[in-house]
Amino acid sequence: MEIFKNEKSHVLIAIFPGQGHINPSLQLSKQLIKLGIKVTLTTSLSAFNKIKNLPNIEGLSFAPFSDGYDGNFEGSFEEFHLFYSSIKSLGSEFIFNLVKLNSTNGTPITHVIYTVVMEWACLVAKKFNISSTLFWIQPATVFDIYYYRYTNYSDYFKNCDSKDKIIELPGLPPLSPIDLPSFVFDDVECNNWATESIKMQMEILNNEKNPKILVNTFDDLEFDALRILKNNVTMVAIGPSIPLHFLDDNSFGADMIEIRSNNYMDWLNLMTNKSVIYIAFGSYTEISSQLMEEIGQGLLKCGRPFLWVIREGQNGEKMVSCKDELEKKGKIVNWCSQVKVLKHPSVGCFLTHCGWNSTLEGIASGVPLVACPIWNDQICNAKLVQDVWQTGVRVNAGEGGIVERNEFERCIEIAMKDEELQKNAKKWRDLAKKAMGENGSSNVNLKAYANEFLLNHSC
Ligand code: UDP
Repeated sequence: MEIFKNEKSHVLIAIFPGQGHINPSLQLSKQLIKLGIKVTLTTSLSAFNKIKNLPNIEGLSFAPFSDGYDGNFEGSFEEFHLFYSSIKSLGSEFIFNLVKLNSTNGTPITHVIYTVVMEWACLVAKKFNISSTLFWIQPATVFDIYYYRYTNYSDYFKNCDSKDKIIELPGLPPLSPIDLPSFVFDDVECNNWATESIKMQMEILNNEKNPKILVNTFDDLEFDALRILKNNVTMVAIGPSIPLHFLDDNSFGADMIEIRSNNYMDWLNLMTNKSVIYIAFGSYTEISSQLMEEIGQGLLKCGRPFLWVIREGQNGEKMVSCKDELEKKGKIVNWCSQVKVLKHPSVGCFLTHCGWNSTLEGIASGVPLVACPIWNDQICNAKLVQDVWQTGVRVNAGEGGIVERNEFERCIEIAMKDEELQKNAKKWRDLAKKAMGENGSSNVNLKAYANEFLLNHSC
């Protein structure tokens, strides 16, 4: 497809300062730059500070701003709305000034792309009459659910917290309340900031003519979910937005991924093929010390080698009572390059919180998943992994809502041994790779989208 190259195209990508937002946005930037588009990435200073090596790519610039806390937000989860309102007000002001400044210095911003819960960036763009696109960094299915929930279809969700209810939404698999992403429940006070943001996002899209959003997924993975809202929102699948070299067979390459712990790769090299359980819960999700303990005990019951990421400050480093015993069997690190680890031949399964990046990285590496979702989209992602793509098994909570050690052992053993899961995992890995190939669906979709918005700015 012929790409219209326009030196004047300058996209601002406004990113919420979480690893799960930054990683796919960086991949998207690289792809846009390849298409001849200048990209500026903006997010809070603290997020930039955490990145060891900012990539030095021609056409890519960075515009950090203070979110008011600069990495020192110490509030509890219940107080997260304070952070959100701070980043929203300081970020809006910053982006406003940035757009203004660029309009007079020869590289005006022609389009704004923004990630989930950054709808305020789109409102700033509107003030300048600049077009904008949401980059939905969760599955299309989760977008559909929120769209249904916060538009005219909210009736589907009546009594959706009653245990036996099955929710049949057009184009989606039957869902029970334990499959729904957290922010459909708008009566949970500590989530108000997020539900308000999502409501506002849906309202913005509903007020646009033929809105189009980019989605970090691929056509084969979510064919129906990507199309069911086509009369309301066009969803353009451009994923999996993970480092392209990760999809190749041979090379790793450096990327915009923090690496705080080393030598785990050497350790993995010593392990036999598909013998290691890899455990990680993403970049910020807190898990209780009780759950940590159950995971630790479950790992001991399995008796298999493991690589476990326990982030600094995350409950558990000091709390897992069996830490000494665990360290005889496996390795605990406070961070790793997950994409490298998942691609390592020694890794046999991935115990994950099912953050969408982790899920996609697991899918693209062909590693069976043990899904232990905590909140947000993770819950729905786990449902898709187990019941739709059948590349993993979801742990069940026991009495009191805690997943017990025997359950971890049970699920890990299934993921390590079940041939059907392994076959499916390979199938989805190959399809993910195909989607991102030169003529793959995601690449073609992105080029078509780029052509459309570039042409809009060509005269
Ligand atoms: N990640 C990593 N090393 C770790 C843990 C996480 O590189 O030790 C990366 C992971 O590869 C993924 C991102 O952090 O790209 C986490 O995103 P995800 O959406 O899975 O979870 P979130 O952090 O948003 O909950």
